Amino acid sequence: MRESRPDLGTRYHLLQGPSRGRPRPDRANRSTTVSEIRVTIDRLPDQREERTVTTGTTVGQLFAEIFEGDRSNIAGRLRPAGAAGVLVDLDRALADGDVVEPVAIDSEDGRAILRHSTAHVMAQAVQEIFPEARLGIGPPIKDGFYYDFQVERPFTPEDLKAIEQRMQAIVKQGQRFARRAVSDEAARQELAGEPFKLELIGLKGAGGDVSTDDGANVEVGGGELTIYDNLDPKSGELCWKDLCRGPHLPTTRNIPAFKLMRSAAAYWRGSEKNPQLQRIYGTAWESRDALKAHLEFLIEAEKRDHRKLGSELDLFSFPTEIGSGLAVFHPKGAVIRNEMEQYSRQRHIEAGYEFAYTPHATKGTLFEVSGHLDWYKEGMYPPMQLDEGVDYYLKPMNCPMHNLIFRARGRSYRELPLRLFEFGTVYRYEKSGVVHGLTRARGFTQDDAHIYCTRDQMAEELDSLLTFVLDLLRDYGLNDFYLELSTRDPEKSVGTDDAWEEATETLRQVALKRNLELVDDPGGAAFYGPKISVQAKDAIGRSWQMSTIQLDFNLPERFGLEYKGPDGADHRPVMIHRALFGSIERFFAVLLEHYAGAFPAWLAPVQATAIPITDAHVPYLREVAAQLRAQGIRVEVDASDDRMQKKIRNAQKAKVPFMLLAGDEDVAKGAVSFRYRDGSQNNGVPVAEAVAEIVEAVRSRRND
Ligand SMILES: [Zn+2]
Ligand SMILES: [Zn+2]
Repeated sequence: MRESRPDLGTRYHLLQGPSRGRPRPDRANRSTTVSEIRVTIDRLPDQREERTVTTGTTVGQLFAEIFEGDRSNIAGRLRPAGAAGVLVDLDRALADGDVVEPVAIDSEDGRAILRHSTAHVMAQAVQEIFPEARLGIGPPIKDGFYYDFQVERPFTPEDLKAIEQRMQAIVKQGQRFARRAVSDEAARQELAGEPFKLELIGLKGAGGDVSTDDGANVEVGGGELTIYDNLDPKSGELCWKDLCRGPHLPTTRNIPAFKLMRSAAAYWRGSEKNPQLQRIYGTAWESRDALKAHLEFLIEAEKRDHRKLGSELDLFSFPTEIGSGLAVFHPKGAVIRNEMEQYSRQRHIEAGYEFAYTPHATKGTLFEVSGHLDWYKEGMYPPMQLDEGVDYYLKPMNCPMHNLIFRARGRSYRELPLRLFEFGTVYRYEKSGVVHGLTRARGFTQDDAHIYCTRDQMAEELDSLLTFVLDLLRDYGLNDFYLELSTRDPEKSVGTDDAWEEATETLRQVALKRNLELVDDPGGAAFYGPKISVQAKDAIGRSWQMSTIQLDFNLPERFGLEYKGPDGADHRPVMIHRALFGSIERFFAVLLEHYAGAFPAWLAPVQATAIPITDAHVPYLREVAAQLRAQGIRVEVDASDDRMQKKIRNAQKAKVPFMLLAGDEDVAKGAVSFRYRDGSQNNGVPVAEAVAEIVEAVRSRRND
């Protein structure tokens, strides 16, 4: 019924929706008089299109007209007059003045909708198989979704298979997701058999702010309570329903590929005081290929899991006698860590940093001055009382102590920028559920620097700082970065408007100069200043937040930090917090996973293993090893009783960069034979050349 292919701004009528099967709940109630509304389609920032459509036209109908058969848009983002926008179902009727943006299934929002819709299908399948199962919540999460259930016993792998099969049938059937607004009272009646949902209605009904941490906002976070019905596409019969704010896919058939992953126990709304539920995790993707790629990625990530490699390579462990989140580094891990630290120290000295050491514990008054006890207490270990009732805390941050060093004597502008650096060990109380190997620990060592400078020096300092950070990360073998700029939340911040503006603009300019992707994080700054963070991608494409450069307008004020300016008056310095690795432990884990345990020669705990073909060749290799050791190379001679092939396998498992083999022929020629980590070999290399090759690889800090 289209009049012609519409050009930009052409007026035309959608007399009949192109998708006749789609429900039009709003439309059905309207009078038959054709009235018109104007809407805007926001395709790309520079591609806005205004259209006039009949009242009652849905988002989906509009898209179908514009994108002609392209079904990849599964929802819309609706922006009534300048607002940030809400995600809506395709069958939402448009209102006059709406601005609507298509949401493709392979976008971040689109995947979240796909995954959450799949969670519905899973919950439906669970209740069909286990009618006594009561529903918790089912939000989308990174790469997937989950749903919590109250059931009589935990789910077994066979249960998951059966649920998955039932889900396939529901997907195939193409049940429609239909939205329906309900009053609190009606919802209570409908969901009388679902105690957890009733609790959510209670949260909503009380006008309370539903926490976003526990996923409950997925169900009741919107303006009104809604129930989504799953309807049989042929009969329109109700198959299942769930309290949910939506949006969802148009039908279950829009789920291209999914898989259930595992199940685990989880407390209702994350609190140990609440009943324990059973959670099923799943994943869903926009295509079978994308699902396959994700599953392969998981296998690769599993192989690289630093906790697994850490024990296989004898690098570190978490003894239960010490406690959750507190690692011990074994000698081989300590070698790597020491190399990491040494190189970092050297670079910091070259860049004009001065080193400090501060204690692990302090009186609470320090954190009263700094404000940490006001806004960070939950992240701290509880106090211990010493000296007749004085509270001492393990420090969660080094900054307050560095401020005391700055303040220990009068400071002149001539000393600025003053760059204090410390490998400072801190302790943070992480909930046991989130502790994860070395990447989320309770005790860890920050490579922490605090820079005090004048406001005039700020721009140059930030610029050289970012260069320093990126260069150093590259030296450890990370090369793929993007930057994130967290800016002011006007609701909660200290510091003057122009200080914020200048600092934020400076950070932005500094970031833009790097030709790296810059992602904005509006309102994401801490209350005390804007921040740039460096995100690094590892060998399998995962992003890790590494370094942060954080301006601070708060602590210099609280500590009364001052320096004498050239005018003889006292001035307040600008303070910059900067952690480069974040923590050494975490960076260790990132590198371990990035290299899958095969560290470059300069970081490898054992750089060369000498393997005799028979015992007769041991003395010869000991001499070669001595030459290497004299050059500072970490070398071992495997003089064990194992056969040669076994020794080679052991060195391979230990991911040693260089194996040096010697038999009669090598001894006769004063040579050795190389065997590299990739399995390639180089025979009959004169000893002096072999030593030089290894020394060069180590000293150049090559990361290949
Ligand atoms: Zn839902
Ligand atoms: Zn700090």
